[in-house]
Amino acid sequence: MTAVTEVLAPLATTRRWQEDLYVQLHQHPELSLHETRTAAEIQRRLTDFGYDVTPVGGGIVGVLRNGDGPTVLMRADIDALPVTERTGLPYASTDTTVDDDGNTVGLMHACGHDVHITTLLGAAQLLATTRDPWRGTFIALFQPAEETAAGAAAMVDAGLTDTIPRPDVAFAQHVLGYRAGHLGLIAGPMLSCADSIRITLFGSGTHGSMPQLGVDPIVLAAAVVQRLQGIVARELPPGERAVITVGALNAGTKSNVIPDRATLLVNTRVYSEQTRTTVLRAIERIVRAECEASGSPEPPTFEYYDQFPLTSNDPATTARVRAAFEQHFGTDRVFTMDPQSASEDFSRIPDAFGTPYTYWGLGGFPPGAQAAPNHSPFFAPVQQPTLTAGTEAAVVAALAYLATDVR
Ligand code: ZN
Ligand code: ZN
Repeated sequence: MTAVTEVLAPLATTRRWQEDLYVQLHQHPELSLHETRTAAEIQRRLTDFGYDVTPVGGGIVGVLRNGDGPTVLMRADIDALPVTERTGLPYASTDTTVDDDGNTVGLMHACGHDVHITTLLGAAQLLATTRDPWRGTFIALFQPAEETAAGAAAMVDAGLTDTIPRPDVAFAQHVLGYRAGHLGLIAGPMLSCADSIRITLFGSGTHGSMPQLGVDPIVLAAAVVQRLQGIVARELPPGERAVITVGALNAGTKSNVIPDRATLLVNTRVYSEQTRTTVLRAIERIVRAECEASGSPEPPTFEYYDQFPLTSNDPATTARVRAAFEQHFGTDRVFTMDPQSASEDFSRIPDAFGTPYTYWGLGGFPPGAQAAPNHSPFFAPVQQPTLTAGTEAAVVAALAYLATDVR
């Protein structure tokens, strides 16, 4: 019997409470940095499993020490989204809340973080129950506010590196639109680095019939929007991937009034720090130059927010986990996934420790299904085999480092 088969032996029992917990979590999602009930539930269960549990920066860390050996950390994100669920599932969320801007919004686990919580708790219990075939320390880390890029930083700022042992390796997984029970890995850049920028352009307000007396920020904003699209086409090498989206352009109130300012919300996605520097510098340069060209009375302002770091998987860690997955699941269930244009703040946690990591995709949909994407009100991964495969993947990856029969 291998360490993996020994630790996974009680999986059928784990599966029963996991399905109940999943439904409970799915019905009662909580917004980023408001995950109090969810965190309390995680804390209670980890304590029951025998972990040393500490709340840190709105998240929960559980540490399970089992003799001398490597330290492995696995992260699950726990927040939900202000989306009104339309899946029609019997356990669909009908909860609403008032968001930070005072609006009543629906609540939904539309990104599958309920899958991540349930699978990591399952793996945490399995590793705690069967400790003979492994040595070392397993850390189950539950992170708030992934969706706003605030949660990993909140945990690091609250002293995470002084609270838990330094991990030798770190993992995270995300349920995505692949076939349920299948696992996608990739070495190197896996998720993009993202920045959001609120750009304010200043004009000079005047009567709509007398444009010569002012500076029109709407014409200025239009020139900026057009010109920003030239960055990817003309300033990056062919083949270098990047996205620049102007997601909002706000100015004016009335047809016969030229307003005094315009605001752009710009979002960028890139796959290297070098490209990030090139893109952000180019955006600022173009905006300043267009303001100059328009005779803007004040320099533009740039406010950066919702910034996500690059997720770049360590090749050696990825290869080791992939080999373990292929051995356990079979090569037909393990594939090389494409880099995703979405972003994550997970890497801030291993980066705070200088720890290599790998982040893999967990399929959650029936074969041939046209899966609604993450964040859609129709996002509905199937419970099984998703929950079981995610639990197995966490255990198999951890044991690739902790099992006494691999060292
Ligand atoms: Zn998401
Ligand atoms: Zn997510």
